Amino acid sequence: MGLCKCRTVTNLFCFDHRKNVCEKCIITDHPQCIVNSYLQWLQDSDFKDECAICKTSLKEGELIRLCCLDLFHLECINAKCNMLPENTPINKYTCPTCKRQIIPSENVTSPLASIIRVKLADSKWAIPFLPKKPATTENSNNMPIMDVNLSNIQNANFTVNTYDDRDVLPTHGPTKPQIFGIRDGDEDKYGTKKNENNLLKEFISSLNVHQRFYKKKILYGVIAFIIIFSILSIISSFIPSNAEKDINDKI
Ligand SMILES: [Zn+2]
Ligand SMILES: [Zn+2]
Ligand SMILES: [Zn+2]
Ligand SMILES: [Zn+2]
Repeated sequence: MGLCKCRTVTNLFCFDHRKNVCEKCIITDHPQCIVNSYLQWLQDSDFKDECAICKTSLKEGELIRLCCLDLFHLECINAKCNMLPENTPINKYTCPTCKRQIIPSENVTSPLASIIRVKLADSKWAIPFLPKKPATTENSNNMPIMDVNLSNIQNANFTVNTYDDRDVLPTHGPTKPQIFGIRDGDEDKYGTKKNENNLLKEFISSLNVHQRFYKKKILYGVIAFIIIFSILSIISSFIPSNAEKDINDKI
């Protein structure tokens, strides 16, 4: 055990700088250094400053430090792993030096593990084993489409509102969340668009049906009112008014 310069207790040791170093400081201050346990240093201070895969210097090229602390060129790790068949299980992609699993287990949250996940995010062989990218980055492409759909729906609601019928909106209340509810980060982007367009069309056509229905209703109402009014006026012309009755009574 030793003390890193940041005063964290550590059992790790930088072979290049010959000093104790904690995991965080390896990342910031010793990215190209050979690091191992202090015990290992005491047993054998010899080390090769080269990539175990291509046997060339680690001072050039992008590097990746695995959870076992072994350091390789990122390119070399990717080339080696891409050579394995596609259905290879996660535990068969191992460090060429110590044979520990390259991809950190899901429950490992150390700074080194986070960096490994980021560095391998674009590696074909590693993608199936890495956590899915946050939805926000995927949605950034879809956002404008969603805005257009939203404005369409709002316009559609507005035309319905001009009929001032409170029964119309609640019946369509659940429709709006359903349209966006089917959006799923894992779903095929183009498939999603298709579904949304279909749902939107159905939604708008159902609105049109309602509009026609209410137009008819109002028309029938007006016709009925005119008929009833004219019947009443015809009837009233046959019945003498109270004033006429009074005059007739007096006579
Ligand atoms: Zn430190
Ligand atoms: Zn160092
Ligand atoms: Zn290499
Ligand atoms: Zn290793």
